[in-house]
Amino acid sequence: MIQVRRPISCCLTSHLRDSCPSRALWRERLCERDREAKPPRREPKFNKHHRRVPTAPRASVESVAAIAQVEPLTSARALRGPFDYLLPEEMRARVGVGSMLLVPFGRRELLGVVVGLSDASAVAAERLLAPRQTIEADLPQDLVELAGWIALEYCSTPARALSLVLPPGAGAGMRGLEQLVAELTAAGREACSSGVRLTALQREVLERLAPAGATPAAQTGAGHGTLRRLEQRGLVRLSRRARARAPAQVVVGARREGAIELGADQRAALARVEAAIERRGFEQLLLHGVTGSGKTEVYLRAAAAALAQGRGVIVLVPEIGLTPQTVSRFVERFGNTVAVAHSRLSAGERYDEWMRLRRAEARICVGPRSAVFAPIERLGLIVVDEEHDPSYKHEGDPRYDARHLAARRAEVAGAVLLAGSATPRPESFARLARLTLPARVDGGRLPAVEVLDMCGVHGALHEQTAAALGELRRERGKAIVLLNRRGWSNFLSCRSCGKVWGCPECDVALVLHRAEGAISCHHCGHRRRAPASCDECGSRSVARHGFGTERLEHELETALGGSDYPIFRLDADVASAKGRAAAVLARFERADAGVLIGTQMVAKGHDFDGVALGVVLDADATLRFPDFRAEERTFALVAQLAGRAGRGGSHGRVLVQTLAPGARSIRFAAEHDSEGFLAGELERRRALRYPPYGELIRIVCSSESAELALRAARELRGRLELPADAALLGPAPLFRLRGRERVQLVVKASERLEAVAAVGEAVARPLHRDVSVSVDVDPQ
Ligand code: ADP
Ligand code: ZN
Ligand code: ZN
Repeated sequence: MIQVRRPISCCLTSHLRDSCPSRALWRERLCERDREAKPPRREPKFNKHHRRVPTAPRASVESVAAIAQVEPLTSARALRGPFDYLLPEEMRARVGVGSMLLVPFGRRELLGVVVGLSDASAVAAERLLAPRQTIEADLPQDLVELAGWIALEYCSTPARALSLVLPPGAGAGMRGLEQLVAELTAAGREACSSGVRLTALQREVLERLAPAGATPAAQTGAGHGTLRRLEQRGLVRLSRRARARAPAQVVVGARREGAIELGADQRAALARVEAAIERRGFEQLLLHGVTGSGKTEVYLRAAAAALAQGRGVIVLVPEIGLTPQTVSRFVERFGNTVAVAHSRLSAGERYDEWMRLRRAEARICVGPRSAVFAPIERLGLIVVDEEHDPSYKHEGDPRYDARHLAARRAEVAGAVLLAGSATPRPESFARLARLTLPARVDGGRLPAVEVLDMCGVHGALHEQTAAALGELRRERGKAIVLLNRRGWSNFLSCRSCGKVWGCPECDVALVLHRAEGAISCHHCGHRRRAPASCDECGSRSVARHGFGTERLEHELETALGGSDYPIFRLDADVASAKGRAAAVLARFERADAGVLIGTQMVAKGHDFDGVALGVVLDADATLRFPDFRAEERTFALVAQLAGRAGRGGSHGRVLVQTLAPGARSIRFAAEHDSEGFLAGELERRRALRYPPYGELIRIVCSSESAELALRAARELRGRLELPADAALLGPAPLFRLRGRERVQLVVKASERLEAVAAVGEAVARPLHRDVSVSVDVDPQ
């Protein structure tokens, strides 16, 4: 039994009786919403200065509801609200659905979100507690509802789902909303110009503060210790302030609008999107355009159309660090109307951007998957750029898919969902209405692709690849080389006894990273020094197998490099520091010649001019994953890399090295035939009842003991009451990960909601305490 400290006010006992009360409550509320939510929609009264959205229905002004139903934000799965709190008189007018409160909870104080209001409670009034404090920021009601829906849809809890939609920095008791600000004193100003003894860092900080005035501590380049010491010497004044309201942002007016004349295909696509926006009903469109066909230009005009209707826009992009161009084009076009949800912003700056949206000072939000939670009212358009990108799936609980959430938000808001890609997912291709951009805007042809059979070839490069790279170096051209594997070599083995160095926590081999002198696990991060000899038999003969980006960089440097022919590398090792990925990409773009090598990061939507050669090494590596999406991934990777070559009028050529030259995904990618590939892929999926022809739910039981994990999976299997046409696969063992043995069950069903509900019921009841369960609806 799970021990919980019981808040006096809560009706916890009633929650324990029902297996999952909040589930029931949310389901009921959402069904109601779904019934109501059919267009034509009521337009909520809108006032740009108002601070609160229309709240839950109230009887009348005189009888303002006294009970707030609060979902406390705790990650505990077993503890589910909402819990009732009694609102003191002076809070009643200010509190509505979406308000955030600090509430007493057991012996703690937790941040909670009001999910409902009521005049009565099942708990006796004298036992109800009052919230301690209200918090200035509040959530729009539609985000509160979205959270409830997420909790159900992904078998999670309302509290966990609500933490996704909170303003940035709100989790930790809203302390994040204040910041330390530093300012020079008169003495400090003097110290800058006089010869007062200062360390180099101290002098630097003072000089930075001198022209700036009051500056957030985080921007001074110094830690709090340094600032405190300067304060003690009377040179700096420190204070806590509410975060600045208007973040520094360059205002750029409408630029280039009109400078680009749309092509006929772009015009036709845009007309269709605009008509949908004008109709103000939910619609899902797929912009299927080859790489370089001008999809972004269509997004920009569609966004302008939505704004002109007084509606807001969300633009989802895969990873801002890797695709800064899309963001800057939106900022260029719309200036301060754009809020950017960028992970490189400080928590305070992200909060400021959130508030600009909340107050409707900004009406467009551009950002990665979490931007789907942007507090935008009267949404008119949600764009999902590069909709095939796996980064839209969130890996922590709730394991949401931003694309699925985008569709839900658009549906509720009566907005248009516009997903775009050169290599759309089979699901989107089958389900969404299609708009096609079949040609590149510059009239350029897609590059010719040659598939090179690597059977019997030793070394990393086929002779044709080596020759092409050599020629490119002589002509001082640019190339991108994709190898989706980082490190030096894949694994080490002992030549005498055959030992392979594996991870002690996971059942995988350790990868050599030569520059660091370490071998490391790419699943759990375990790392140790690279061995010079075998620790089993003492042999000094250790063999290195395979190659990754680090070794490839070294080999290309030896073969081609020189001071005047740079080799750039981009992978997760290089990009571990913030901003490094963007810096490498910018250097490659500026360089007049050179080679960019790297993992899938180099195949994202970059728009570089003048890349003459694209190379994919070991193209079938992704095919070797035992996953029904392996084909789709491989196709997208090869086609996307090919899309980077030959832009801006230059001729492009692409070489694809593979051990499986006949594989469907590779053949179709080589012919730039995504429609052909998708048609075949959909046929295969229909036969196997994979998405979009069926729903998959993956349940993983993990434990330190293989036996316990298996037993738990069997027990869950027994509990699951699935719809008649659903299939249940497993229990099947997975490889050990982070010291935990794992066993998986997979549900295949035709009705998503029913199956999710059945799984939700089954996992809501506790299993063995040494077993944890994770549920992944629509796993990627
Ligand atoms: P995609 O997103 O489809 O790969 P982009 O939108 O990045 O393509 O467009 C590639 C380039 O073509 C961009 O530099 C863009 O400004 C330019 N472009 C887009 N539409 C047109 C057009 N109609 N005429 C000329 N250039 C265009
Ligand atoms: Zn050995
Ligand atoms: Zn590991």
